Amino acid sequence: MSKEKLGNFTERDAPTYESMLQCMRCGFCLPTCPTFALTGRERSSPRGRVALARAVAEGKLPFSEAMKEEAYFCLDCRACTSACPSGVKAGEVMEICRSQVHQQRPLPKWQAGFRNFILQKMLPDPDLLETSMLPARLYQKLGIQWLVRNSHFLKLGPKWIDKAEGMLPELQQPLRQRLPELTPAKGEKRGSVAFFLGCIMTLMYAEVSKQTVRVLSHQGFDVLTPKQQKCCGAPHLTEGDRETARRLATHNLDLFLELDVDAIVTDCAGCGSALKEYEEILAQRQDHARLERFHNKIKDVSEFLIEVGLRSDDLQPVNKSVTYHEPCHLCHAQGISKQPRELIKAIPGIEYREMKEASWCCGSAATFSLKFTEESQQILDRKLQNVTNTEADILVTANPGCQLQLAWGLREAGMSQPVLHLMELLGEATPG
Ligand code: SF4
Ligand code: SF4
Repeated sequence: MSKEKLGNFTERDAPTYESMLQCMRCGFCLPTCPTFALTGRERSSPRGRVALARAVAEGKLPFSEAMKEEAYFCLDCRACTSACPSGVKAGEVMEICRSQVHQQRPLPKWQAGFRNFILQKMLPDPDLLETSMLPARLYQKLGIQWLVRNSHFLKLGPKWIDKAEGMLPELQQPLRQRLPELTPAKGEKRGSVAFFLGCIMTLMYAEVSKQTVRVLSHQGFDVLTPKQQKCCGAPHLTEGDRETARRLATHNLDLFLELDVDAIVTDCAGCGSALKEYEEILAQRQDHARLERFHNKIKDVSEFLIEVGLRSDDLQPVNKSVTYHEPCHLCHAQGISKQPRELIKAIPGIEYREMKEASWCCGSAATFSLKFTEESQQILDRKLQNVTNTEADILVTANPGCQLQLAWGLREAGMSQPVLHLMELLGEATPG
């Protein structure tokens, strides 16, 4: 998107000057920032990052290596925004700066080619994306994974490869291929919803989203799952490809606004957060009323079920103690904090145990956990200590990125609690 050049930022996809001017340097954000807690370094704090970006905007600094490093070292967890009295969005400023990284400090050719293939060809094409997972499914089915894990030879290579392999959950056939376009409401019908099925959910957590659809249907809603839906664009925003994110956003907006539904529901916090941002990323390209209509319909499944009122009369007891980790893209990016807890507490038999620092990032943060394995581990260790202190039987969360990171972390630490998505827990309590 073209606009007037701002200091040493290029015209296309630069943060706005206003987004930096809002910072009054009070420091309220500092205790909430995981990267500042790790390093104690001002430039790795929300305040420091905004100051860096402002210096670039004012032409006092070039778009330097330090700016590039901070753009990617920021977890984009948005905890600072929740704490900031001026509403500064340091995470979002850094996210936009990643787009500048690729314009001003491009990757070597082969790396750029690989990145572009993933972001511009594979992720926007659900068929290609699903096909690309076939080797991983065969790797598990043929027992090669068992051999690799038991030989421990991956431990000899770079840590990120061992971790990426270790995080792989048991893969099923992608859910998009199996879900009917319409799952009818059970019992007395209360309305209709469209289901936004995220890429990681369909590929890696198919059984979770199957439960989400079952729960929504059991709660009295027709569930429409259009097969033509595409990636929400979250990975593109995270990796600084805002143009492809806009293309995907336009596709999904057109597709979902055609449907006569009460809400567009998702069980992926990362997708929900990106879908709610369409209003901003398409602001110059779409009619405002359409964007607003779309925005108002997007609901995280916990937000939706609490809004319409959970039918809990026939829920079956789950006699377990449960603690809850809040995904950053649910609590900080969408302000959804009490609804998941209310759903957990509505299940008979559950003993809910609040953990300390439940909204502190788990260290997953899209590709952060693989790019900064040491720092991610330190953030995760803090989370695992808080989980341990609750002595809860089950750890619940509501985002696939967190679930991958936490399940891996618990297993590596020899902890026995299962990590469940909120909808798996509610699915367990839902009869039928
Ligand atoms: S980002 Fe917000 S909380 Fe942090 S120093 Fe600036 S104004 Fe204060
Ligand atoms: S988004 Fe998270 S990591 Fe980034 S500056 Fe804010 S609190 Fe720190």
